[in-house]
Amino acid sequence: MSDQKQNSPRPPRAPGHLEQEESKLWRLALLFLVLLATGLAALSWERLQNLPYHLGALPIGLLVLSILFAAYAYGRRREVGELKSLLQNLQERAGVTPSEEQLDHLSQLILRSQRSFKELIDSFDDIAFAISLDGTLRTVNRRVSDLLGSPFTEIVGRKIDEFIEEPQRDEADKGLRRFIETRRWSGVVRVRVKGNSRALYFDCVLNAIVKGDEVVGASTLARDVTEEREKERRFTELFETLQEGVYFSRPEGKLLDVNPALVSMLGYSSKEELLAVEPSGLNLNPDEDPVLGRGVDDRGGTRTREITLRRKDATPVIFQDASRAVWDGSGNIIRYQGTLVDVTEKRNMEKQIQQQEEFRQYLLESFPDLILAVDLEERYSFVSSRIRDLLGYRPEDLLGNKIDDLKDHSSELVTLYRDVVSGKQLFAACEYGARHHDGSWRTMRASASRLFDAKGNLSGAIISVRDISIEKKLEQQIIQSERMAAMGQMIGGFAHELNNPLTAILGVSELLQDEGAGEATKKQLSMLQQQARRAAEIVQNLMYFSRPPAPGKSRLNLGELVDRTLHLHAYSLRKSNITVDFLSESGLPPVVGDPHQLMQVFLNLILNAEQAIREARDRGTIRVRLGHTDDSVWATFQDDGPGIAPEILPNIFDPFYTTKRPGRGTGLGLSICKAVLKEYEGNIEAASAPGGGAVFTVMLPIASGGTAVAAEGTATPSS
Ligand code: ADP
Repeated sequence: MSDQKQNSPRPPRAPGHLEQEESKLWRLALLFLVLLATGLAALSWERLQNLPYHLGALPIGLLVLSILFAAYAYGRRREVGELKSLLQNLQERAGVTPSEEQLDHLSQLILRSQRSFKELIDSFDDIAFAISLDGTLRTVNRRVSDLLGSPFTEIVGRKIDEFIEEPQRDEADKGLRRFIETRRWSGVVRVRVKGNSRALYFDCVLNAIVKGDEVVGASTLARDVTEEREKERRFTELFETLQEGVYFSRPEGKLLDVNPALVSMLGYSSKEELLAVEPSGLNLNPDEDPVLGRGVDDRGGTRTREITLRRKDATPVIFQDASRAVWDGSGNIIRYQGTLVDVTEKRNMEKQIQQQEEFRQYLLESFPDLILAVDLEERYSFVSSRIRDLLGYRPEDLLGNKIDDLKDHSSELVTLYRDVVSGKQLFAACEYGARHHDGSWRTMRASASRLFDAKGNLSGAIISVRDISIEKKLEQQIIQSERMAAMGQMIGGFAHELNNPLTAILGVSELLQDEGAGEATKKQLSMLQQQARRAAEIVQNLMYFSRPPAPGKSRLNLGELVDRTLHLHAYSLRKSNITVDFLSESGLPPVVGDPHQLMQVFLNLILNAEQAIREARDRGTIRVRLGHTDDSVWATFQDDGPGIAPEILPNIFDPFYTTKRPGRGTGLGLSICKAVLKEYEGNIEAASAPGGGAVFTVMLPIASGGTAVAAEGTATPSS
């Protein structure tokens, strides 16, 4: 029992002492409450959101502390009550020395009280200690002895610098004066315990211990934030070294923080310089809304978008922005944070590739030939858009189709493809007929060679196709005109040869008639003369047509020219069962032109009409009418053939336009007609006849000073 007394602190021997103990207890309670209040007041909820995350748990810690303290205070109040009643007992019996038993009880109570106070502060997870201004540790909790590696008894009463080498005494003294003034200090302190090289970080709250009016020490509550600091340090390191730009901005776009990568990406020399830039200063167009921050409606999550910012030197830089908003407790966005990846080069490269692609496209489109690629399955895998001009189709009409699927293409193209792909020929060409979408036939020349893929494997054939219809028709035209010239010469000679016997026949038959033959003989002679005259007329016409074109223009009777042409072609028409219904106004005014050329015009129209009729039926009629208006003479040629489809009507006067199979038509007839009539300031028009068939109208201006030319009169060369 006496041992215990010796070891235990001395019990209070006077009532005043007890009161002092009680008030000390209440002061402590007050101190904790003040601590709690200041903690909560200082850290309002909104500001709490702005604090680094490791401080966020402080108020909760304070709350736990206050609950523990309340429990403790309740217990203490009971003990103090007991003490008071004991004291009262003592006082009542003033002058009476308390018994040994009473003193022992008192001492037990105080000891218990101290122990439970110690238990309370030991239960803190954080470091708690009281220190006097000269650095002597007055009270410490278990966490302090754990940290310093010494038992409580060896720590209390000793100077703190005996245990820690950082912060050093003089460093701590620097802030002492300010602490004495403000009586409160909070902040993070780096601590290095002697014998342990690892630096620890503590987030400390120091409150002054005041005796009377004087600050005598500080009560300290410290939380180990080393791990958080480590994380923070690693984050900072990452932030500083990351290749991507990182930013924090206010909702309106003002930058709050940026990493060095972003500073250099935007061409600024320092972070401070960039942070000073107004949000609109980062826009290419300063009048537009800021690009960073609340650029788009935010519903949470990370938004990824492409933005263009302005470098310091005003050049644009394209970024891939992945950012997200940070909200406060009441749902307001307080800032944006995001990463920026410079994709300018990537975009430029893409643009370049796109330009190259476009160039390739233009190249193929402006290439005079149609380019076709056909794969090993014999399907079109590429068709250049020249197909529109060449054959009136769209590339997609052919793409994916089999090469032999297309009707109206002669089979030479397929053979060409197969020859090349099979290796029979490495490079080959052919000519083939293809029908244009409008129905006209074209002659094409195709050249093909083998096509290989990127790995060098055979993937099909590439074929370039050129429309050679013009060349082909020119060729045919030359052959035809050569033939015609030869025929003309032949007919000329032939007509001359026939002229003499015919003249003789006519002369002899007239002589025989004059010599007074019998009635029956006279009748036969007259028939002979009639036929001989008809033959002479045909010969005359043949000679007229085969004569080389007379230089210069003549005044002509159009009716007579048409009549002559019809006569010339009468045999063929008769053979085709075609009747000519010819009616000319009498006394037609003259026109000016080359009779030879104009006969050619009429012959073309009659030939076309004949061919059209023969195409549709085995007999028909060509209706020819001539008349005149105030200033021109007209001739219409109407047939009862199939007529002209409205969609091809605008094309029929184009050179080489033909709907006839190759070899049948040159497509030059109508274009020659147009050219000839244009030369004499006339015109030709085509239309569909009201009852079906086609009608062509030729118009020529009336010759100046023109008077009627006798219908049977011949062309008179103008001098
Ligand atoms: P070609 O007769 O060699 O085809 P043309 O220039 O004379 O050349 O005629 C061009 C096209 O006009 C013909 O292919 C035909 O389609 C159309 N055509 C001309 N005359 C007639 C007609 N009387 N009836 C119907 N179509 C015609």
